[in-house]
Amino acid sequence: MTHRDPILMGPGPCNPYPEVMEAFARPVLGHLDPDFIGLMDEVGDRLRTVFRTTNRLTFAVSGTGSAGMEAAFVNFVGPGDVVVIGVNGVFGGRMCDVAERCGAEVVRVDAPWGTPIDPQSLLDAHPSPAVIAVVHAETSTGVRNDLEVLGTGKGDALLLADCVTSLGGIDLQIDAWGVDIAYSGTQKCLGVPPGLAPLTVSDRALDRIRQRPQSWYLDLNMIAGYVTGEGARAYHHTAPISMLYAIHAGLGVVLDEGPEAVRDRHQACGDALQAGLEARGFELFAQEGSRLPQLTSVWVPADRLPDGMTEAQVRTRLLFDYGIEIGGGLGELAGKGWRIGLMGHTARRRNVTLLLAALDDILV
Ligand code: PLP
Repeated sequence: MTHRDPILMGPGPCNPYPEVMEAFARPVLGHLDPDFIGLMDEVGDRLRTVFRTTNRLTFAVSGTGSAGMEAAFVNFVGPGDVVVIGVNGVFGGRMCDVAERCGAEVVRVDAPWGTPIDPQSLLDAHPSPAVIAVVHAETSTGVRNDLEVLGTGKGDALLLADCVTSLGGIDLQIDAWGVDIAYSGTQKCLGVPPGLAPLTVSDRALDRIRQRPQSWYLDLNMIAGYVTGEGARAYHHTAPISMLYAIHAGLGVVLDEGPEAVRDRHQACGDALQAGLEARGFELFAQEGSRLPQLTSVWVPADRLPDGMTEAQVRTRLLFDYGIEIGGGLGELAGKGWRIGLMGHTARRRNVTLLLAALDDILV
């Protein structure tokens, strides 16, 4: 058993914005309290700004990013629907699983992990799909997939995008790019703990919503009037009040700093980390030109590990001695690479400098 002193952890990589943690201390209102309803309306407005959309149906689903994924599929995909899905990492694969559980005929378009999916191959995969789905920022590989070309070429299909890791961290333009359904998560570039899934749905998609999806909790028909402000404010489920305070505060930080400035901060940190790793002889995993600044994937050079130490032990040492948590590799990178997140409040130059210095201390 260990007794780690949280004070020694310092500005750890999982720290949300300080304003967000203060928001958790606010008195808990009732979920139908007029002040709370006003706060939810503001969350919708703030989400519309960061998603760059005017979609009426824009709100935070109660649940983590996976709840956003489920809501995006169950409400728009039914038995026999053709869904084209791009897969170049874990989360594209998860989309296939969810779509199959909805009874969809999944047309899977694979690309090697570490490379982006060619958007034309998705557009060519089927003549008339109901939905084309892709992960904008693949957290398992650090690769950005193109949405804009899909929006231009989607035809009659709905374009569904996983924006869990992209929202707030890189350029994302829901309306200008023609994205119909997008979901995100709070714990990535919004700098809020996990617990909510921002979701936005175009009117074009709302026209095709399933009347009785295979979910009660995530049935948008039951909450859409409520969240668009057009229906009566009625009880559906008890909102996680404090999480809504938290996302309200996190979005407030992003808007005060400026969404573009926040993106620039992510980019500058990612660039500095990637340059620092390459200068130390590391080979980056994601293809140049499609690298995410907020998630860096990198091979660990075996000859740089101290005698008898595995890459996992280096990560443990980073965590215990320096308060830095980085992720292990997935797929091809498992046991051989790392995934390093710089997201939200943790996208700071000091974290880049600390990590590079810590690696200089540990590696040979
Ligand atoms: N999609 C992507 C791209 C993710 O990175 C994640 C989580 O890391 C998810 C979906 C699932 O989100 P959650 O773990 O919050 O349910």
